[in-house]
Amino acid sequence: MVDQLLLHIDGRNVPAADGGTFTVASPTTGEVLFEVSHATPADVDVAVAAARAAYLDRRWWGIPARDRARVLNRAAAILADRVDDLAREETRQIGRTLREMRAQLRRLPEWLEYFGALAATWEGTVPDFGPNHLNVVRRVPLGVAGLITPWNHPLLITMKKVAAALGAGNSIVVKPSELGPAVPLALAGILEEAGVPAGVVNVVPGLGPTTGRALSEHRGLDKLDITGGTETGRVVAANAGRNLVPVTAELGGKAPVIVFDDAPVEAAVAGALFASFIATGQTCVQGARLLVQRTIHDEVVQALVARTRALRLGDPLDPQTQIGPLVSQAQRAKVVEAVGRAQAQGATVLCGGRVPEDPGLSHGWFYEPTVIGGITPDHDLWHEEVFGPVVVVAPFDDEGDAVAKANDCPYGLAASVWGADTGRCLRTAQALDVGIVWVNDHHRVDPASPWGGTKESGLGTENGVDSFRGYTRPHSIIVSTAAQPFDWFASTQELRYS
Ligand code: NDP
Repeated sequence: MVDQLLLHIDGRNVPAADGGTFTVASPTTGEVLFEVSHATPADVDVAVAAARAAYLDRRWWGIPARDRARVLNRAAAILADRVDDLAREETRQIGRTLREMRAQLRRLPEWLEYFGALAATWEGTVPDFGPNHLNVVRRVPLGVAGLITPWNHPLLITMKKVAAALGAGNSIVVKPSELGPAVPLALAGILEEAGVPAGVVNVVPGLGPTTGRALSEHRGLDKLDITGGTETGRVVAANAGRNLVPVTAELGGKAPVIVFDDAPVEAAVAGALFASFIATGQTCVQGARLLVQRTIHDEVVQALVARTRALRLGDPLDPQTQIGPLVSQAQRAKVVEAVGRAQAQGATVLCGGRVPEDPGLSHGWFYEPTVIGGITPDHDLWHEEVFGPVVVVAPFDDEGDAVAKANDCPYGLAASVWGADTGRCLRTAQALDVGIVWVNDHHRVDPASPWGGTKESGLGTENGVDSFRGYTRPHSIIVSTAAQPFDWFASTQELRYS
């Protein structure tokens, strides 16, 4: 039976104003899993109004910060209890392997705990204002935040934004991806069960060009926070900008993985596989460009190709499966087209590069993990984000060449550097024009560690104190402490303004 999913507005699950729906199908089998209410612009208005009312009467941000933290900690505990069910749901919806979704979701309570701890311990400042005044600066919530999220980590990315926004005391309206709305909707229920008041968390599933557009154009927002593709980010940021709504945007990437000649080959190849093929390559920080020092290039590529060929594709709910399907027919078509174009431009497919022939996989959007050589900066595939299980490999000569090749990219989200010479790895890391660099690792994320990119990878940051701060604004109170009354017009002396 197909499950029905409704909008979540002001603490209630409600259908769309016009009764409209869309469906979510399994990327593994094609079967329809959910019929989801499609929020209209009128529904977005109601959700923003509910969030505004919750902000204005201070039902959430007016309670002591340590009580807000307690509620977030309770939500973390409920979430921890339900992780296995939610992980299964994520796997059914988006096709990522159950093993990956369990590993990811098990960490998500930490985001609620971390931002709860920041809420409970955050302090204002008292800047020096001269002898006759005391200046108290509090950080207060912005108000109503619109959150637009993608499908590739439906709960992780929603959680990064929700935990920071709620910790700082905001009310929110979430527009989850049309491909993965179930678990973000479940999160709203968990938060309210833990004690977040109705109206603070609203979820409006729908399509980008309708529901997402209505939210991004809404004049009732105080912040818009999106994770998505770079072109979507431009449109959404322009919409919000017209209303002078500040934007945080986590966008596309094309992360380089740099392997120096002193890296143990086995470890570097294991790292490259992890960087490139987790989530079937559908992550913004995917190691999409493997740059290997020329002296060990052939050895590394040979080992990488052998291990890539051995990866097991299959039903993502099966614990033995290592690579699930791509999320949708459109996503697979994009990968097929990008690889075909690379071949037409002269690149060589070293393994994969095709839809698998196994009839057992014919109902899903599978694509073989692919390694491509013979690639140069003249090829489209050097620069463009494919968002699939495709990695290009190229040699470099020395540290300077590695940095130049890595930085030759419109994106600047993440990179990793592999090698035994710590000084060289750190020099290289510091020279990379990206937001996040891992050394001898990849993909690691923590609620305390900033996450955001340079160039076309976006604006602002998630995680850490900067993210919390970005959901607040200063509220400055200046108190006169002067012993004498102040009367400007009673005198012609040069009086101080402060
Ligand atoms: P999209 O840009 O297609 O969509 C992201 C969200 O924006 C979805 O909710 C989508 O709605 C919505 N949207 C689409 N068009 C509009 C519009 N015109 N107005 C308002 N909202 C709109 O990205 P994907 O979901 O395909 O996710 C993949 C992309 O996300 C990749 O480029 C990836 O690099 C990036 N990403 C970045 C991360 C980071 O941290 N920097 C992390 C993860 C992913 P709909 O539901 O219809 O799709």
